[in-house]
Amino acid sequence: MSVERAAFITLHACPLAAPGQGKSGGMNVYVRQLAAALGNLGTQVDIFTREHACVANRIETIGPNVRVIHIKAGEPEAHVGELYAHLPEFLEQLNEFKEEEGLEYDVVHSHYWLSSWVGRELSQAIGAPHVVTFHTLGLIKMQSRAGEVEQTERPVVEAEVMASADRIIAFSAHERDAMARLYNADANKVSLVPCGVDLSVFKPLDQRSVRDLLGLNGEKILLYVGRIEPLKGLDLLVEAAAQMDTGESVRVIVVGADANDGQELGRVKQLAKERDLEDQIDFVGQVNHSDLPLYYNAADVCVMPSYYESFGLVALESMACGTPVVAARVGGLPTIVQHGRTGYLKSWRCPETFANSLEMILSTDGLQQSMGEAARKRAEGLGWDNVAAIMSDEYDSLIENAAQSAQGEERDEPASLTANAAKDDNKC
Ligand code: UDP
Repeated sequence: MSVERAAFITLHACPLAAPGQGKSGGMNVYVRQLAAALGNLGTQVDIFTREHACVANRIETIGPNVRVIHIKAGEPEAHVGELYAHLPEFLEQLNEFKEEEGLEYDVVHSHYWLSSWVGRELSQAIGAPHVVTFHTLGLIKMQSRAGEVEQTERPVVEAEVMASADRIIAFSAHERDAMARLYNADANKVSLVPCGVDLSVFKPLDQRSVRDLLGLNGEKILLYVGRIEPLKGLDLLVEAAAQMDTGESVRVIVVGADANDGQELGRVKQLAKERDLEDQIDFVGQVNHSDLPLYYNAADVCVMPSYYESFGLVALESMACGTPVVAARVGGLPTIVQHGRTGYLKSWRCPETFANSLEMILSTDGLQQSMGEAARKRAEGLGWDNVAAIMSDEYDSLIENAAQSAQGEERDEPASLTANAAKDDNKC
C-alpha cells in the first residue's frame, strides 16, 4: 500500500534548481528523484520550497502526482544564512496555501535542518508523522574540516528535531552513530535508507563515442564532479595528479561551479598553476545533470577527495556508468564504494596514496574494466524505484503505528467515560 499524500519540505533546495552550482547539489537531486519515484508508486507529493529569484511559476507539476509549490518567505535573493529568521513566515504562508486548497497530508518529510523546523511545526499541527532527512549535520561538518563555520542555531534545532521526529532517515551507519553520539539521538528512531540513482540515465556508454562528443582524445581521464567548496577537498586531487607517473598523459576534468564567491575555485586554479598542471586540468563549470553520463563514461576514474560526504551521490552516479571511484573513506562513501572491488577508499588525506590507487587502476591490465563492471552491478540495487519502495514502507509503518495508538486511546476512552457516568449516576 502506498501513502496517499506526502508533504515534502525543502525550504532552500528547490528541486527545479540546476545542481552543481551555488548551494544546489545532491539534496536538490535527491528531493526531485525521490518525489518522482514516490509519485510513480501512486503517492501525491507536494514539495514546498521557498520562492527564489529563478521561479517561473508558483506551482509546477514535475511528473505524475508531484508538484513543486513555491512559498514566499523573505526576499527571493536571500542567502541561505538569512533564512532562519524567515521560518515562521514560511510556515504561515504554507498553512495559508494548505487551507485555501483544502489539503491534507498523511506524512510530512522534511529535508535539512531549516526545513526540519517547519516540518516539526506542520506535523504537530496536522497530527501527521514527521520524517526528517538532515542530509548533512552541522556538528559532523565542523568536526570534519577545521575552518567550517555553522550558524549557532543549527545544532540546537537539529538536536530538538531529532528528539521530536517520528523517524530520522540516515544514509549510513556512520551518520546514525554520529547522531547518537553528538546529538544524543535515539538510534531506534533512525532508519538507514540509501540515496538512489536513475539507472536509465546513468548507464554505461561507449567510451570512444562520448569522448568524441566531448572533444577529448586518448589521454587517461580523471574526473571530479561537484560544487566547488573547501569541504570537497579538490586541492587533494590536484596534488595527487601532480604526483602521478603512469608514463601516459593524464587529464583532470573538473565539473561543477564554485559554491560561493569564486574563492575556492581561484585557490584550486592557483594550486594547479603552482604544480605546473594548468594545461592538464579543464575546469568545465556546471553541467546539466542529464548530460553528466557523458562525462562519467568518458572518464577512466572518478575521484572524490572530500573531507565529508553524508552520502556522495556522485560516486553512485559514476558507478552506475561503470566508472570506478577513488574516494576518501568518509561519511557515507564506504557504503557505496567497495574498497578493492568498485574502486578504492583512502583513509588518509595524502596525495601519494590517492596517486598510487589512481595509477594502479590506470596501469593494471583489466582492473579498470573489472572494477567498472562490479561498480555498475553494485549501483543496480540502488535505483530510485527501490529506494522509494523502502521509503514508502517507512511512511506506512509510521501511519500504522499512529492509527494503532489512536485506536488504543479510543478503546481506553469508553472505559473512563463509563466510570465517569457511573460516578454521575451515584451522584444522582
Ligand atoms: N551535479 C550536476 N552538475 C554539475 C555538478 C554536479 O548535476 O555540474 C550533480 C551531481 O550529478 C550530483 C549532485 O550534483 O547529483 C552532487 O551531489 P553530491 O551528493 O555528490 O554532493 P553535494 O552537492 O550533496 O555535496
